[in-house]
Amino acid sequence: MKQPAWATRQLERICQEYEVPVPTTKWTRKQRYSSSGRYRFIDNSISVNAGSDTKDQRVTFLHEVAHHIHRIRTKGTGGHTALFWDIAFELFHDKRNRVKKKYALDRSARYKQGALKAYARKKLN
Ligand SMILES: [Zn+2]
Repeated sequence: MKQPAWATRQLERICQEYEVPVPTTKWTRKQRYSSSGRYRFIDNSISVNAGSDTKDQRVTFLHEVAHHIHRIRTKGTGGHTALFWDIAFELFHDKRNRVKKKYALDRSARYKQGALKAYARKKLN
């Protein structure tokens, strides 16, 4: 499938603001409600396996964009670190990215602790 126009716009704006190169992206369609994603540092690429729900696509996509920014800032360290979650929730909290924070938090529940801490930090700001 072709990358949705909103994703292209968000990616270009976010990469400009965070001063990181625009990664290559690949979108495939999945016959499910929820989406899944993957970021590969080795070739600087994001893949999204897009489910039917747009808000889930948005959260999944921004999660992978956060991995991209995080990996570049830390020069290759990956994982769901505190810094990663700070970046992810910065993206989720930006109204222009059109993500509901509560939904992003619920969606991040399987990584609960880090996500909750980042959510709490953002709430204070
Ligand atoms: Zn992740």
